[in-house]
Amino acid sequence: MLDIVLLGSGGGMPMPNRHLSSLLIKYMGRKVLFDCGEGCQVAMRKVKSGFKTIDIICISHIHGDHIFGLPGLLSTIGNSERTAPITIIGPVGISNVIKGMLVSIAYLPYDIHIIEDPKSPIILNSTNDGLEVVESDDLFGKNIILNTLELDHSAPCLGYNLLIPRQPKFLPEKALEEGIPKELWSLLQKGESIQYNEKYYESDRFLGEERKGIKISFITDTRPLREIIDFIDVSDLFICEGTYGDNDDLDKAILNKHMTFKEAAELAKLGNVKELLLTHFSTAMDNPEEYLDGIEDIFNKSIIGYDGFSKSITYTN
Ligand SMILES: [Zn+2]
Ligand SMILES: [Zn+2]
Repeated sequence: MLDIVLLGSGGGMPMPNRHLSSLLIKYMGRKVLFDCGEGCQVAMRKVKSGFKTIDIICISHIHGDHIFGLPGLLSTIGNSERTAPITIIGPVGISNVIKGMLVSIAYLPYDIHIIEDPKSPIILNSTNDGLEVVESDDLFGKNIILNTLELDHSAPCLGYNLLIPRQPKFLPEKALEEGIPKELWSLLQKGESIQYNEKYYESDRFLGEERKGIKISFITDTRPLREIIDFIDVSDLFICEGTYGDNDDLDKAILNKHMTFKEAAELAKLGNVKELLLTHFSTAMDNPEEYLDGIEDIFNKSIIGYDGFSKSITYTN
């Protein structure tokens, strides 16, 4: 249904075995990229991912370890014969940064739309040209909804969650009861109300209960915040920074506005998420795995991320 690939699990500086912050989401043959640290292109090549179908790029903040891969990636996408626009979403300041980067790119065959510091959900629909941002208050039938949350870091920083809503089940028996012909059923299924035999039918009457869709949350870089708990609530996957594995580094985490594994695990627990994927490891941490034991008693569905980690997520029930 939806695939995620962690392209880069490092923070700060690229390391021989760790690219910088970047995560790819693949859905319906299209791609949404979260962050684009240095080495993003190489990491995409390693996992044999194409560039042309990246429609949306969500940037957490403008620190180099999250955006220095962008000029190269945008150029490469330009060489992939893409002509459909790309939307880049980011915090306050993102427009200026992108404009600056574009100075070093002679020509791009596609437009870039920038959404700076969005204050309302961003709705994406799947079209022949890929995922496109649509203006709508009606969330029924929409393919992807993106929400942002202001985080607590040393630069303006946004957390993201991505929702794939799931349509309620269509109840054919109700349509049969009312004698509605089958050719009109697909409209009701899509949430459209219909007129038949001079009678008006609301679609709600023919649809079952709401069903849980898919929710992915991406939180980096930040100190833990109370607001994060609601924001990540019941995520299928909570991707979170864990810059420091050792809780003795809490002072450093506070000073540099990052988190320890323990703090990330506590958020995962309070947010009732299904799984926690830790990433954005400090260069000083050679083997993040060795700190996993220390958080098992807080949240035992924790995964230590690594470059190339991938996972498919489907609807539950
Ligand atoms: Zn960072
Ligand atoms: Zn940062």
